[in-house]
Amino acid sequence: MGDPKGFMTIERHVPSDRPPKLRILDWKEFHGHASEEELAGQGARCMDCGVPFCHTGSLIGGMAAGCPINNLIPEWNDLVYRGHWREALDRLHKTNNFPEFTGRVCPAPCEGSCVLGINEPPVTIKNIEAAIIDRGFEEGWVEASAPESRTGKKVAVVGSGPAGLACAAQLNSVGHDVTVFERADRIGGLLMYGIPNMKLDKTLVQRRVDLMAAEGVKFVTNTSIGTDLPSKKLLDDFDAVVLCTGATKPRDLHIPGRDLKGIHFAMEFLHANTKSLLDSEHKDGNYIDAKGKHVVVIGGGDTGTDCIGTSMRHGCKSLINLEIVPRPPEFRAPNNPWPQWPKIFRVDYGHAEVAAVYGKDPREFAVETVEFHGDEQGHVKSMTIRQVDWSKPADKGPPFSPVPGSEREIEADLVFLALGFLGPEQKIAEELGLATDPRSNYQAEYGRFATSIDKVFAAGDCRRGQSLVVWAINEGRAAARECDRYLIGHTALV
Ligand SMILES: Cc1cc2nc3c(=O)[nH]c(=O)nc-3n(C[C@H](O)[C@H](O)[C@H](O)COP(=O)(O)OP(=O)(O)OC[C@H]3O[C@@H](n4cnc5c(N)ncnc54)[C@H](O)[C@@H]3O)c2cc1C
Ligand code: SF4
Repeated sequence: MGDPKGFMTIERHVPSDRPPKLRILDWKEFHGHASEEELAGQGARCMDCGVPFCHTGSLIGGMAAGCPINNLIPEWNDLVYRGHWREALDRLHKTNNFPEFTGRVCPAPCEGSCVLGINEPPVTIKNIEAAIIDRGFEEGWVEASAPESRTGKKVAVVGSGPAGLACAAQLNSVGHDVTVFERADRIGGLLMYGIPNMKLDKTLVQRRVDLMAAEGVKFVTNTSIGTDLPSKKLLDDFDAVVLCTGATKPRDLHIPGRDLKGIHFAMEFLHANTKSLLDSEHKDGNYIDAKGKHVVVIGGGDTGTDCIGTSMRHGCKSLINLEIVPRPPEFRAPNNPWPQWPKIFRVDYGHAEVAAVYGKDPREFAVETVEFHGDEQGHVKSMTIRQVDWSKPADKGPPFSPVPGSEREIEADLVFLALGFLGPEQKIAEELGLATDPRSNYQAEYGRFATSIDKVFAAGDCRRGQSLVVWAINEGRAAARECDRYLIGHTALV
């Protein structure tokens, strides 16, 4: 602990993002950067507590409290304070294969359980993490490091999201020959085609993929296992298989008018937008254009916010975001104490952009959609919505009921459904005869990651359901450890 009084003398400061009205004019990252001096000061706010909850990564009430990959946060805070950036980078890479991703997109449960956060604003952990890895790349400290020898064991990883990439990196580091199969044309899973460029620049994803390729990981794109290549072939050709296929089945909204044109799942919009941006800077026109449209995004979370930010960059005419849940409180509720993840009202980048342009946050809370209405061409033009009351659960129905007389119609010529995901597609499970859990995820106990079929492991969203990048990295690393143990009888992976 460098400065014993830092937490009393220095205030929390996070660098400002680019101004919303300017940043919606391009697709570049919106994150701001702090100076080295400022970061040293922020690192000095860390109290180096006896029990640093920030790196515990335990689940409390179903939510992560502390960093799920157990980043050694107080150690690198102190190293940054002292100016030992190279050592901070080495410490960070011990637990996290991809800090450049988490330092940008993680919701930072670490900060929610920072001990300083009990009565003061917490340490800016996520920001310091991003700064350490960005500096590492700038200085040329992050280099490909291939294993000295190979074991002769072959592993297939299916899916190239953060779980698949973390798993592949770990297995390759101990000398196994790893091939990653990906059905998309680019590697990265939701890092590439879910999270938009302004939140995570795709050159950063590709930079890490290139490093892994230089370390010996083989990447096979445009290959859907179960369609282009039978799943069973992997069992014949490889000593082990790790499934990291994500939770890609979107939840639908079965109400009248759902089949009208102009109503899309969020991922149709986001995937096509990033692909067209990367392929041709949108010149090919192969994306759903929100320009001049009345956009309604149904559902919140990261997916809903990314639909908002993308629509704003297209130049939509208006934007409404419907949330079925009530507006969260400004401060922690009594039943949501520290060190739990604070369930409070937050303004994410997309909300800030709508507020800057239209003068109002786009969210309407405790609202459900009743029906979509179309024009003569079968295209959506409006929708009926109504308020719901969470204090009155429906009889044998949902935990809320409609507020009588609250129906109203709103304009909508482009609607995005961001209602969550229902587990992995079932093709591979059917072909291999894999057991699935009641939520249709691949069944594999956390900690062991072994499925019901010998030599097949599962990790990430396809095993735990839609979650976070940091949990996908946690599971990818841990599944690699168990896979390594299966292959050679012991493991040096942590
Ligand atoms: C729009 C959106 C925004 C998000 N934003 C954030 C955020 O800001 N922060 C955060 O922490 N989390 C965010 N998340 C959640 C996070 O992205 C996921 O939890 C994480 O990517 C899961 O990683 P994964 O590796 O398990 O799966 P994925 O990233 O989903 O990757 C799975 C990959 O498997 C491939 N695949 C599937 N089936 C096959 C097959 N049969 N053959 C070959 N390949 C296959 C898919 O094409 C995909 O590339 C977001 C999610 C979405 C949808
Ligand atoms: S990965 Fe997420 S939880 Fe862990 S230190 Fe970074 S921001 Fe915090």
